[in-house]
Amino acid sequence: MMKLLNNIFRPITYVPQYKTWDDEIIELPDPEYVVIPLEYPGQILYKPIVKLDELVHKNQIIAKSTLGSCLHTSISGIVKDVKPIWTARGYNVPSLFIQRKDAPAFTTNEIFEQYGVQFTSASREQKMKALGIISPWTRPGRYHQEQDINEYPEIKNIVIKGFNEEPSIFVLELLLKKKNVNIVRGIKQISNMAPNATIWMTVPKYFLSQAEEIYGEYVNVISLSNKYKDRIERVAIPKITGIDISNTASYREKGVAVISVEYLLLLQDALNKGYPFIYKYLTVSGAPISKPVTIKCPIGMSIRTVLESQRIDSDSYARLIVGGPMKGIAQYNDLTPLTKSNHGIYVLTDDEIPQDTNLTCINCGRCVQVCPVNLQVNLIGRYAEYGLFQETLGYHPEACNECGLCAYVCPSHRPLVQLIKLSNKYNQEKDEPNQKIECSIESPLEGWEQQCTHCSETMDCGSVAGDNSKPVAVRT
Ligand code: SF4
Ligand code: SF4
Repeated sequence: MMKLLNNIFRPITYVPQYKTWDDEIIELPDPEYVVIPLEYPGQILYKPIVKLDELVHKNQIIAKSTLGSCLHTSISGIVKDVKPIWTARGYNVPSLFIQRKDAPAFTTNEIFEQYGVQFTSASREQKMKALGIISPWTRPGRYHQEQDINEYPEIKNIVIKGFNEEPSIFVLELLLKKKNVNIVRGIKQISNMAPNATIWMTVPKYFLSQAEEIYGEYVNVISLSNKYKDRIERVAIPKITGIDISNTASYREKGVAVISVEYLLLLQDALNKGYPFIYKYLTVSGAPISKPVTIKCPIGMSIRTVLESQRIDSDSYARLIVGGPMKGIAQYNDLTPLTKSNHGIYVLTDDEIPQDTNLTCINCGRCVQVCPVNLQVNLIGRYAEYGLFQETLGYHPEACNECGLCAYVCPSHRPLVQLIKLSNKYNQEKDEPNQKIECSIESPLEGWEQQCTHCSETMDCGSVAGDNSKPVAVRT
């Protein structure tokens, strides 16, 4: 009872902030195996261009999308399997399993030989595709091309994120401090690509004066407070640029590009040095670890390997979150591989998990009070809970930016964000019929088509979206 009362009366802006964190970035060695998902839901579907039992070299292109974007192996090894796995975002995605075997990494020239052009004569777009870097100008989604730029307004504002939204992730601010020479090069590069754009950079308040000294000549430095509400990207970007961008509009449609300092480093490494996107920075935090630590690991490494590297064993936690405490996604198990879009691992102990969840709404109004876009969250949640998704439309659940504040303050521990997501997904699918698109990539990997899990909204291979009912054969 005391816990419930505390929950009701605690100040609602309270989101825990770390006071200390490890300032070093720890680079992890290549693991025994990696699992590389072939799809980024809602974005790109890749088809494998390698065979089972083939020896692949670190950096080698192992899969391609219809539009020619490439996926690489982050270690040298043998292709052992292709089978579906649950990704950190909760999608069932066909993936390549690569078992480590010592072999030299591919050089830039070898990657480009595989791609079919010389690095020195490749265009910017070819370099980005060959090295697995998406264009900063594209809309999110699978079917974009850099040429699409002509269909949208010119980029007039670029916001470079130097501060993570989540209070437990320190990747961007550490890169801001440690990789300043390369970030400045990246800023110059991006500024050449969009000469008429105003460039902004978000930084933590404590780093403002240093950031102005290092980056002030090239960008408008904006400090964000430590308060989570001020850091929420969808809230901060319109304030910074002065452009009204509804939650349903993409930044691109409004002539705005939002990128991170991590992306700038990747872009710089790709365009100037020919390095592919095979590493990811992540912050590991939570009660079992004395202070958050940021690591650099090969893409496809499992959560378990990362946690073991920090001596966190499975007995010391009760739940794993990929992301942070506000927007992260709980995981089924610790073998989930880490991908290009993961930024943190947050570990919860048993006593941090509420005993009772999804209790009856007591109409306290805290969710409504805290919502940065003023939604009547309690009502949306109640309609959605009974499957009355159509009825939620009058309360505009599509304006939700999934910041998690409503669920965070709810004394009844209701899964409000999940209910809103469910409602939005239902209403969106009702309005948008499934797309069917022919795929031009030939895969030499035998049995690949049988591994297709029909898992996402649209599939390049021509399968119909949303059909996740078929059992999936797993090759052993
Ligand atoms: S997650 Fe909750 S608080 Fe955040 S925008 Fe959506 S409804 Fe509002
Ligand atoms: S959903 Fe939770 S926070 Fe919102 S009114 Fe109900 S009990 Fe209060």
